[in-house]
Amino acid sequence: MFLESGNADGGRIEVICGSMFSGKTEELIRRLRRAKFARQSVEIFKPTVDVRYSAVNVVSHDDNSISSTPVDSAQNILLLASGVQVVGIDEAQFFDDGLVDVCNQLANSGVRVIVAGLDMDYTGKPFGPIPKLMAIADDVTKVHAVCVRCGALAQFSHRLAKTDKLVLLGETDSYEPLCRSCFLKMKTEDKNGN
Ligand code: ZN
Repeated sequence: MFLESGNADGGRIEVICGSMFSGKTEELIRRLRRAKFARQSVEIFKPTVDVRYSAVNVVSHDDNSISSTPVDSAQNILLLASGVQVVGIDEAQFFDDGLVDVCNQLANSGVRVIVAGLDMDYTGKPFGPIPKLMAIADDVTKVHAVCVRCGALAQFSHRLAKTDKLVLLGETDSYEPLCRSCFLKMKTEDKNGN
């Protein structure tokens, strides 16, 4: 475990990762709310590609939202985060690898950076800058969904929609969380055209 409010001057990088429906955004918002209660200045950023619900809010699936700023590139976070004590970044898998350097720069200058994102894409491969962020983070939290097929803990996001587009943002009609064994079964069935 880590000191959640910690040393106000101590920069750090925290990563919250997992599959779809694992509660990543909820956990991000929980930590940011606590930082706000501690009277720290908080800013949230997300990539402009994530326009599922709203252009100005980080919205989690349980409607527990905090306002945020959409940015086109990770570099813009550096420009917009000056003077901020706690920086939250949601849907971080959609940023490029430049986000790794941005998070390091922020943390090295004393900012607490909390990054949430998918650790794997729908094929089960590491997603965007998340694996590198996990490597350099002070703390990594992997949250789990529940497998809709068998009820075990799920870490895979199986895509139901038939498209090859990697950046497909979806809800229950597009993805389902699966455990390893159910994910492997579904992948085999998908390959066989069932
Ligand atoms: Zn399962």
